[in-house]
Amino acid sequence: MEDVLTKIKFKNDTYTKKRGTPALLKMSCSICEHIIMYYQKDGPGPLKRCYLDRIFYPEDLAKLQNYSFDKKNCPSVKCPQCKQLIGFPIIYEKENRPAFKLVQGAFSLKKIPNKVCS
Ligand SMILES: [Zn+2]
Repeated sequence: MEDVLTKIKFKNDTYTKKRGTPALLKMSCSICEHIIMYYQKDGPGPLKRCYLDRIFYPEDLAKLQNYSFDKKNCPSVKCPQCKQLIGFPIIYEKENRPAFKLVQGAFSLKKIPNKVCS
């Protein structure tokens, strides 16, 4: 797992510039505490959705950003261990940006310290 973290490089694009300094978050399942993903959150405020292009881990979620997005065919995010629903695919209309809308209360977040935007 530490290996994954050392390979992560923050994305720094127009979304980042608009929203603010990015932070790396570890998202865990609220029921069984299994790791759901590592996610780059740009700027302050609560996490309501996860943009596909900000997911670094696990591989099967991170790679979704490379394919054309289809709400109907994109899988939901579920805890791999206890199968709790974490999020479901949407297009964030304001930016026409594929994302997972998160189920509040289904996850907990921890900020990974000492990540420097590269
Ligand atoms: Zn779980």
